[in-house]
Amino acid sequence: MQTQNLGYPRIGSQRELKKASEQYWAGKLSAQQLMQTGSAIRLHNWKLQKDAGIDLIPCNDFSFYDQVLDTSLMVGAIPARYHDLVQEKQLPHIDLLFAMARGYQKDGYDITAMEMTKWFDTNYHYIVPEFTANQQFTLFSNKALNEFSEARQHGIPAKPVLLGPVSYLLLGKEKEPGFHRLELIKNLLPVYLEMLSKLEEAGAYYIQLDEPCLSLDLTDAERKVFTKTYQEIRNKFPQLQLILASYFECYGENLATVLSLPVQVLHLDLVRCPSQLDDILATEIVRTRTVLSLGVVDGRNIWKNNFEHTLALINKAVAKLGADRVWLAPSCSLLHVPCDLELEKNEKTLAPEIRQWLAFAKQKIEELVTLKQLAAGENNEIANARLKENITANNNRKTSALIHNSTVKDRVAAITPKDASRNSVFADRKKLQHEALKLPLFPTTTIGSFPQTAEVRSWRAKWKKGELTQEQYDELIEKETEASIRWQEEMGIDVLVHGEFERNDMVEYFGEQLSGFVFSQNGWVQSYGSRCVKPPIIYGDVSRPAPMTIRWTSYAQSLTGKPVKGMLTGPVTILQWSFVRNDQPRSETCTQIALAIRDEVIGLEQSGIGLIQIDEPAIREGLPLRREHWSDYLNWAVRAFRISASGVKDATQIHTHMCYSEFNDIISQIADMDADVITIECSRSQMELLDAFAEFKYPNEIGPGVYDIHSPRVPSKEEMIRLMEKARAVIPSEQLWVNPDCGLKTRGWSETKAALQEMVEAARELRKNM
Ligand code: GLN
Ligand code: ZN
Repeated sequence: MQTQNLGYPRIGSQRELKKASEQYWAGKLSAQQLMQTGSAIRLHNWKLQKDAGIDLIPCNDFSFYDQVLDTSLMVGAIPARYHDLVQEKQLPHIDLLFAMARGYQKDGYDITAMEMTKWFDTNYHYIVPEFTANQQFTLFSNKALNEFSEARQHGIPAKPVLLGPVSYLLLGKEKEPGFHRLELIKNLLPVYLEMLSKLEEAGAYYIQLDEPCLSLDLTDAERKVFTKTYQEIRNKFPQLQLILASYFECYGENLATVLSLPVQVLHLDLVRCPSQLDDILATEIVRTRTVLSLGVVDGRNIWKNNFEHTLALINKAVAKLGADRVWLAPSCSLLHVPCDLELEKNEKTLAPEIRQWLAFAKQKIEELVTLKQLAAGENNEIANARLKENITANNNRKTSALIHNSTVKDRVAAITPKDASRNSVFADRKKLQHEALKLPLFPTTTIGSFPQTAEVRSWRAKWKKGELTQEQYDELIEKETEASIRWQEEMGIDVLVHGEFERNDMVEYFGEQLSGFVFSQNGWVQSYGSRCVKPPIIYGDVSRPAPMTIRWTSYAQSLTGKPVKGMLTGPVTILQWSFVRNDQPRSETCTQIALAIRDEVIGLEQSGIGLIQIDEPAIREGLPLRREHWSDYLNWAVRAFRISASGVKDATQIHTHMCYSEFNDIISQIADMDADVITIECSRSQMELLDAFAEFKYPNEIGPGVYDIHSPRVPSKEEMIRLMEKARAVIPSEQLWVNPDCGLKTRGWSETKAALQEMVEAARELRKNM
């Protein structure tokens, strides 16, 4: 039995890579220093895995930005707009990589970055490959080879990891019409074969090919490409041991194809799809020589493994296949979990009782080795002690008073359909709301946050360190809030917001105040490039011990006669952007959060707030990878939103907000959320995203974003009027609001004020032209 790892976090346990890259971008670090940081991280990770006793250690899992972008460089898929940088400027690979990821505005060039999107259902973002018809590929970067040689020099039993050619193509986008990107496989495969032959020459024996698209719904034609491609690889390299890895879902409908692929090792994500093991052990594969890599340690979450449970799975596989055909692995790359629990030393923020339930990447590596020792029946003292400790921790977690709150459980059990529905239908609510709010046609508003300047963040940092008292901090935030109310009034915005100056992050702010959440101090996970997030950990039943936002919202409302919109993060988004407990279904946890938010919504109403926004930007990204699971997810997600929103009177107006609004296939469920007003991101698509709403005859009110908040550019009122005219052509004017695409926290003040002033003018013109 062997242990293998599929990938290790590369950001560094102290975020060394983040810091070095950002310094390099700022011109404060040389390329050579950046390279040194990279090799130090690689060596550290390799040694850590080797010392722990992992048999097969990944290399080329490291990246200075993203492994998909690395693959684009490997195969020379460099979009034409960067060709000058390569040919004329002769940019080194590292700078080309960053130019493709981040754009290049220097030396008279102004080249846009490549698009970025979410890696399956994770919060990791990859750089989307761009393809043109009959595109040619050439081996452009030897990174995979170099990192393999580097690992060998350090005496590491390394296994190169490559993103497989079929998934690489599927993850990209056609940049011109008239072809399908999979047609490019015939041009692409030779480059992969060239790299494989170099790796084989350099001594590689095992190669891990990640084909995570096998976790998606595929067509027959797509499956055929897999079959043909892997057959060709096998024919060319009869000696190489191919490890095929997919994760995040069952192989499902793709299983027959997968089982027919000529690979030596097949990896299974048994965390996401435990039932898969029985299915596979019941097939022909048992009579072949294929090795199964059991992904038993959760690479997506931070919980300690349950050894007893896992050993049962392992034993089942060993009984059918023999120990030498069973490997142990994490369910997927450990990229998605923080580095090291040992760095969490603060018992005040992370109680020891909770800490003993957790495992970060380094601990997960140790778990794999211990599981192997236990499965082999070695009478190993350390392993036995770890088993004992593991059983104790898991038993403690089952019964811990920290987790289980019967009041919360009873409340969830008692929810009735009435709790998930407003008193009256929208048509009736609308009249009452219009009477209460007396807003003009095309009311103007914003999405909630205003610039989080370095100054505002420094106040919070000082307050957390104890350098500012609570009173001093509150006073500063009050001033900032008051100033924002004043200029919103002066500008003539109709529905004001308080500005969210007191919030660090839209999920963390609520997590810190809800029971059932804890925060690590160093639990960083790469989101994209140098950007890391520190997701809250939901460990127990969730409740709201005290009001969370009422103080700041009522303060803002007390300053003005205009309506101030309360601002909350919705249950699905809080769930989606946290590490979620694995001892109950996600839907259950989501419902608990929904009740907590409901209490806050009611509290805001009671304090005189007439409009309340419940942000759900993550509702779409929560969609399961396979369509067969969509309706189940959407049922509980929409219900959770409705529970959070339905405790108020008809006259109280509930808003929601979503970014990335590709709603075509879920528009009826979005309508079913029954928010009185939904604001969506629309400007970059020139209002095209509104078409789904128009076709559906979406009945409630909509604020299609009229300007992109991702850039400092100030759009003119004419541009915004043009966009609103487009909106008006498909949605009745009475239903329309005027607002930016999203919150303004990443913007500077000058462009924010200038753009909002144009926006208000645009709304005034629109009203005139009615
Ligand atoms: N209210 C939040 C803000 O304005 C919404 C952010 C988001 O949609 N991601 O920042
Ligand atoms: Zn948004």
